[in-house]
Amino acid sequence: MTDAKPFLPYGRQWIEDDDIAAVVGVLKGDFLTSGPAVDAFETAFARHVGARHAVACSNGTTALHLTIKALGLGPGDTVIVPTVTFLATANAAVYEGVRVVFADVDPETALMTPDTLRDALARAGGAAKAILPVHLAGQPADMAGIGAVAAECGLKVIEDACHATGGSYEDGHRVGASPHGAMAVFSLHPVKTITTGEGGVITTNDDHFAERMRLLRGHGMVRDEAAFLNADLAFDGAGAGNPWYYEMAEVGFNYRITDMQCALGLTQLAKLDRFVERRAELVALYDRLLADAGLEHVRPLGRRAGCRPGWHLYVVLVDFQALGTERARVMTAMRERGVGTQVHYLPVHLQPYYRRLDPNLHLPGAWDYYRRCLSLPLFPAMSDDDVARVVDVLAGAIGGRH
Ligand SMILES: *Cc1c(COP(=O)(O)O)cnc(C)c1O
Repeated sequence: MTDAKPFLPYGRQWIEDDDIAAVVGVLKGDFLTSGPAVDAFETAFARHVGARHAVACSNGTTALHLTIKALGLGPGDTVIVPTVTFLATANAAVYEGVRVVFADVDPETALMTPDTLRDALARAGGAAKAILPVHLAGQPADMAGIGAVAAECGLKVIEDACHATGGSYEDGHRVGASPHGAMAVFSLHPVKTITTGEGGVITTNDDHFAERMRLLRGHGMVRDEAAFLNADLAFDGAGAGNPWYYEMAEVGFNYRITDMQCALGLTQLAKLDRFVERRAELVALYDRLLADAGLEHVRPLGRRAGCRPGWHLYVVLVDFQALGTERARVMTAMRERGVGTQVHYLPVHLQPYYRRLDPNLHLPGAWDYYRRCLSLPLFPAMSDDDVARVVDVLAGAIGGRH
């Protein structure tokens, strides 16, 4: 059989005419960066999540870095990161000389649990200051359980919510407004649920953290007279602030986002609920068609009850060994029939940089998940027929059909 149908990547953006018009509108205006679209996007994002503040920046990685800076972490401190995540969750701490201790995950959900967190804390030996749970595939981790451990041990919780934009926890709060988290980080990369090309957002209810992150995203530059430290240089003879004057009391970064990006963010945000809804429909359809296909040794990612995921990935767990095949062969066969797949992720503690630091670390839950995981295409512009085609192609590739 030949497939003349378009290639289905594992994820992709959905850009419509109103998105394009919004970006062009900014280009015709006065402000390309640090302008009104940035403020408007932050306000709208905070409102959508139900958080007091949203701070937008250049990407999800710099957003994570800003949270580490906002907590004031540095050499001698440790953070706990689940090993099944994208590199950036761990790297953001390493940028500040912070040690990362990797937590194992539940092999069915790939999420850190209160138990795997406690195990990691025991290995951290009392130096841990913060925990970065990852809402993998869009499914929220057990924030109440993780929050209880955090409260008991005096730790801050920074959620890596890059996969989970638009989802809700089991307590009904939107992801990014958890009473158990200090800050939550979102990515606006094109494969994520909504996009600004590159972009990141941090939500928080904490005024101090929000102010710190706004300061650090812009070089640490201060223009508020009341905050000036150089009394001899900042003011004129009459005691007024000099008109050219700004100060830097600590080193920040240029992690700004542009007005073009934020204009796109605003139009995308208006579609977020529709995108999340359509992703949930596609996930339910995959579940049903996979069950109908009755494929042995294939099942969907484990689900946590009660939450409403903002699904980013559709992950199946496949026992490739029992099927007498290899994942690479299945992926190649599917690609040849027009279906893109991906592995999310090689556990980060096995990346050469981290492996060098802790060569003997064995995290069995993560390994068990990693051996079996395969992400199938999931994006809101997919049709129901596309899902049926993916299930068919998967069945063929593992030898279950055709
Ligand atoms: C995408 C992603 C990031 C980083 O976001 P960028 O915007 O690509 O920098 C961090 N963590 C996770 C889990 C991600 O999926």
